[in-house]
Amino acid sequence: MAHAVAAAPTWEAFVAPLEDANERIGRAWGQASHLHAVLDSPELREAYNASLPKVTQYWTELGQNQGLFEKYQELAASPGFQSASKTRKRIVENALRDFRLGGAELPADKKVRFAAIDDELARLHSRFSENVLDATKAYSIVVDATRIAGIPEDDLAAARKDGEDGWKFTLHAPSYLAVMQYADDRALRETLYRESVTRASEFGKPDWDNTPLIARILELRREQAALLGYPSYAEYSLVPKMADSPAQVLAFLDDLARRARPYAEKDVAQLKDFSREELHLEKLEAWDVAYASEKLRAKRYAFSDTEVKQYFPEDVVLQGLFRVVETLYGVRIAPAQAPVWHPDVRFYEVRDAAGALVGQFYVDLYARDTKRAGAWMDSAIGRRRTRAGLQTPVAYLNCNFSPPVGGKPALFTHDDVLTLFHEFGHGLHHLLTRVDELAVSGISGVEWDAVELPSQFHENFCWEWEVLRHMTRHVETGESLPRALFEKMLAAKNFQSGLAMLRQIEFSVFDMRLHAEPATARSALELLDEVRARVAVLRPPAYNRFPNNFSHIFAGGYAAGYYSYKWAEVLSADAYALFEERGVLDPEAGKLFRNEILSVGGSRPAAESFRAFRGRDPSVEALLRHSGMTAAGISP
Ligand code: ZN
Repeated sequence: MAHAVAAAPTWEAFVAPLEDANERIGRAWGQASHLHAVLDSPELREAYNASLPKVTQYWTELGQNQGLFEKYQELAASPGFQSASKTRKRIVENALRDFRLGGAELPADKKVRFAAIDDELARLHSRFSENVLDATKAYSIVVDATRIAGIPEDDLAAARKDGEDGWKFTLHAPSYLAVMQYADDRALRETLYRESVTRASEFGKPDWDNTPLIARILELRREQAALLGYPSYAEYSLVPKMADSPAQVLAFLDDLARRARPYAEKDVAQLKDFSREELHLEKLEAWDVAYASEKLRAKRYAFSDTEVKQYFPEDVVLQGLFRVVETLYGVRIAPAQAPVWHPDVRFYEVRDAAGALVGQFYVDLYARDTKRAGAWMDSAIGRRRTRAGLQTPVAYLNCNFSPPVGGKPALFTHDDVLTLFHEFGHGLHHLLTRVDELAVSGISGVEWDAVELPSQFHENFCWEWEVLRHMTRHVETGESLPRALFEKMLAAKNFQSGLAMLRQIEFSVFDMRLHAEPATARSALELLDEVRARVAVLRPPAYNRFPNNFSHIFAGGYAAGYYSYKWAEVLSADAYALFEERGVLDPEAGKLFRNEILSVGGSRPAAESFRAFRGRDPSVEALLRHSGMTAAGISP
């Protein structure tokens, strides 16, 4: 018998069928995780957690499969593949990199250990997030009329329970923030603050304490990095990212911290003076900061969030958002029909100028007990061209805004509107892609630290008069936002921007050092204290257990990656500066942004896309200018 020589694998016979199979499981599990995040129930949670180890095991084994790894290597080296498109070459390069990062080159015994770590980590991440949600849900306080002074009517209406006495406040963001920003009752603020910042810690129910989970997660991540020969988890985490090294990231953060610090110090000094003189708060406590800040802002700029909110009813905001998108990118957005998981969910489709379907999306805007906190975009279906034809993308947009109360439409704060534009920016990155290969279409394959570019970029439009005057209508009078109020909002935009920037830098430095430094006896909390001593200008009380609900890095994908927000903000601010130069709704600039950033997805490195759009490397100047931190301000 002749010795059979295996032919080199081809894209069509090897990569495409593998993608088919992975897409099937990815989409099925994607729906389950989506429901786990937005419609939590004991039954679903049980089913989800029962399946999670199997799904994790599948991806882990796939990522370590020696046979597949070798096939990719053969494909990459085969003569036929040398003429493949740049996009397909990048997909194969990424696959080879991910195999190495997933442990494919490890000897058999270490592979088993690597997989066991993956499995344990997946369960710990899920548990971490459930503990935060359970601890959040478990607490509420019912107060009588003597304790509600200062809280706006809309928030009181939301806190009113049918047929019951009193007002009920919880740790869910809208309810919690209403108390923290507005309640005159200082003890009520203190109570809620303490409950919130000690969630999932040793001060609560032992079953929900995330402290041991944090230690174990860090230990496992270190071991995983060591197995692959990296000096730290941070080094391992940065391999597929845009940033080169932990040192580069820390230097970037240090530089921003140095520039922001004088502004943050000024912010705090002014807040303390104001609190002492006008609010008679001798010592500014952590539970006074949001309250005093709101009062100072209202005094200095003579408007409140509540006043502004009346101009942002949901339907007008959505129409305004769609108008911006339609103008810039030449598409049309219209409501459409699809089965939904909750009556509050809406469904839309995006079509191009010729009427062809570009993509579809779900919008689930309101907070509820069964939804995890925050706002996020997720992919339901990715764009892909197969023999069967073109598969168009579908996105989920999830927020936690206040639902409609008292027969009025839902009213959004300007912050909510920013959040909506932010998430929609992610959505557009996913929906407006023109890449035909699933692995790098939309946000797939985009470096973590560049993925916030389109989202943060779109927030800028919420600060443009040209946009806002068409995106506002007073819920009672029907008037659009008065120019004078807009000017005040603009003046207030950089209110405490130094403080806000230092806070983000504090979290980013904490996250990076936590994952970059060797194991010591020092706990995560002690490291955070040390970082705060160097970076922060406001120190919280000793019982604050922020790490215990820092889900971004202990339950999400931001481990050694939280800096991405600031990193991408430099990119997004600098990108937006082109629109400031050309005109904010300039369709030509929009076309360029769509062509060079949104539509290319992960088909080329983000640094290359940025240069193609801007004609040069990113500069930090636009971000500093947008944040009010320019030489004209204070000289450090
Ligand atoms: Zn985002």
